Amino acid sequence: MNKTVTIIVKGIVQGVGFRPFVYRLATGLALNGFVLNSSSGVIIEVEGEEKAVDIFLESLPRYAPPLSNIENIEVISHPSNNLKSFEIRESVEEKGRFVPVSPDIGICSDCLSEMLSPADRRYKYPFINCTNCGPRFTIIQDIPYDRRMTTMSKFSMCVDCANEYGDQSDRRYHAQPDACRECGPSIQLLRGNGVGAGPSACPIQQTTILLQQGNIIAIKGIGGFHLACDAANDAAVAELRKRKGREGNKPFAVMSLDLDKVKQYCEVNEKEAHLLTSSEKPIVLLKKLPNCLISADVAPKNNYLGVMLPYTPLHYLLLAEFHGCALVMTSGNVADQPLIKDNHEAIEKLKDIADYILVHNRDIHNRCDDSIISVLYSKESIIRRARGYAPLPIALKFNSRQILAVGAELKNTFCLTKDNYAFISQHIGDLKNYETLHYYKENIEHFKRLFRIEPEIIAHDLHPNYLSTRFAQEYHNLQPITYNLQPIQHHHAHIASCMAENGVDEKVIGVAMDGIGYGTDGNIWGCEFLLTDYSGFERMAHLKYIPMPGGDKATEQPWRMAISYLYSVYGEAIPSRFLKRWGDEKTLFIMKMLKQGLNSPLTSSAGRLFDAVSGILGLRDVVDYEAQAAIELEMIADGYENRGYGFEIREQREKENTLIIDPTKTILDIVHDIELDINPSIISARFHNTVIGWTLETCRRVRDKTGINKTALSGGVLQNRYLFERIKPGLEEQGFECFSHSRVPSNDGGISFGQAVIASRITVHGLQLSVYG
Ligand code: ZN
Ligand code: ZN
Ligand code: FE
Repeated sequence: MNKTVTIIVKGIVQGVGFRPFVYRLATGLALNGFVLNSSSGVIIEVEGEEKAVDIFLESLPRYAPPLSNIENIEVISHPSNNLKSFEIRESVEEKGRFVPVSPDIGICSDCLSEMLSPADRRYKYPFINCTNCGPRFTIIQDIPYDRRMTTMSKFSMCVDCANEYGDQSDRRYHAQPDACRECGPSIQLLRGNGVGAGPSACPIQQTTILLQQGNIIAIKGIGGFHLACDAANDAAVAELRKRKGREGNKPFAVMSLDLDKVKQYCEVNEKEAHLLTSSEKPIVLLKKLPNCLISADVAPKNNYLGVMLPYTPLHYLLLAEFHGCALVMTSGNVADQPLIKDNHEAIEKLKDIADYILVHNRDIHNRCDDSIISVLYSKESIIRRARGYAPLPIALKFNSRQILAVGAELKNTFCLTKDNYAFISQHIGDLKNYETLHYYKENIEHFKRLFRIEPEIIAHDLHPNYLSTRFAQEYHNLQPITYNLQPIQHHHAHIASCMAENGVDEKVIGVAMDGIGYGTDGNIWGCEFLLTDYSGFERMAHLKYIPMPGGDKATEQPWRMAISYLYSVYGEAIPSRFLKRWGDEKTLFIMKMLKQGLNSPLTSSAGRLFDAVSGILGLRDVVDYEAQAAIELEMIADGYENRGYGFEIREQREKENTLIIDPTKTILDIVHDIELDINPSIISARFHNTVIGWTLETCRRVRDKTGINKTALSGGVLQNRYLFERIKPGLEEQGFECFSHSRVPSNDGGISFGQAVIASRITVHGLQLSVYG
């Protein structure tokens, strides 16, 4: 008996070697038919012996290529079409349909061994790739994923490559970026001013020699440029810091050839090793070993280093030639601007930073930074979601309308939804300047086109001055009838993002701790306990309000928050040691502002409290990058100290339901310890323990009131390892079910996802967003 079926496979099935796999499976079973990529998935038709067709259907999901991720298989039986062979057919495009696009994938072991074997025609070729590895998202201009829709279209294949590409049994069959030295992209080493660095038999060897000599070199990668130098060379690292300017002590990431090298300077546990070597190849935050070989200036005042392994063939060749233990590989950008992706832009903008520039002529269509992950409490927790992860969608447990969620301001991402998918953009950056805003807008249009999404609703933050909020309003003003605007409170979005990532659909006690989020009362929130579901939240508890003298300036200058907290405790009788430290004039000026309430918005931010303690301890008065003061405070905390300081949790008189966490006693105790000359590491640990203490107690009291036992943790402050690795087990010990982030960032990079989920749920169910301030 013969049988004929059409099979529609959805998920990550394009650009991952799926069609050659289907071809081999079908021909092996003597089935006739075809397979093709369409914009709604892979479509297969097979006909043959009933038994063989059944085996085919069974084997399809079981033996699918390692990088594919099948979400759904639909099988339709129908009469025979009398096909005489099995073939891979041309892609077809259907209007309005979309398929997920694969992220870029680190070099696979097959390609690596070919690249290292002298007999192979791609021996040491820096752009080797196959259906299982290589660039994807960064070269795609449109779907379906075919060479003509990528930046590889300008290279015409040589006969050998064309034969592989066309041979249905070859592992490079329809590998869109397939190329070789004869026909594909090539590299070129330039001087910083863009002039060729002179003829060289091997630009890679020349580059590594220059790196070893202490030069700074801009290197074009897969999603943009890096700035590289020898990570163990103090002078080179210091010079790179100086030339990069403005970013002060922001940590640089490093890249080493392999795990063995990494283990020479960092601790690596099993989970971390797994992440480092995964095909996503993220930057993993690893604990430095004592006497770490890497220059202290790579990540100053930080016990952790961001480390990654080579993910392109070019990186691999460079690191294999390089004699040192690691290269600094930090984002090739200027100040707060987006990553540089084009050669001419690199020559123009990096000429004062890089001594040399190693370019190639495969264009990058979409910028994509390196992703950053840390392992917290034995679980991976993504900090920056970009290369290797974006634009993979997060599957939702429900069908969503088409929504554009514009995100927040810092570490911005946006999110588009369609069907049961949420497409979170790659990390965009801080939306504070024209260049980043331009990149953001361009990227939104690209995502809309790639995934065939035309949003009906635009979700945005409540903050009226975020560029993302203004963008949403502009967008709406252009076509007010088509789009609905949906403002969403920042911490509601944080908690909803954590809930949706974990598929939670009931009320939770949301614990959101971060730097800044605009509240429904116009104050700046940031240490919030919210009884939350998708349709709204009730503010159950928060840190006591305190003025931020100078508004945004207080975020950049922790000493201002230090004075604000001291003033709130001591009034004008601030201990003289602090007056001496910051100077009478400065201190009195801030106290006057506080007294008169001048330009001092109120905040309940956890981040600002950490800043204040960092300032009071004399660790950091002015920050070079976001959260620096809090990170440096965390880094010195003594993990063996168990004590904490006093605090008070009380019912607010006017609003019966709201608990206020008052850290007055905490500040008094800290000052007391300073006067006793207690080591700052002990003071930092005691302060952290205090925050942990009041978090656990507040959750208990909210549970007592409401009977809710589920908690969800979110917000940038909860990326603090000391806090997270004690709060989460602490809650679990007390019988709470505790959800936290893993695939979506806990910081503001996860806000867009939360906004999208809330907007989707309230509009699908016709709910009114309910907020009880
Ligand atoms: Zn490969
Ligand atoms: Zn070729
Ligand atoms: Fe936030």
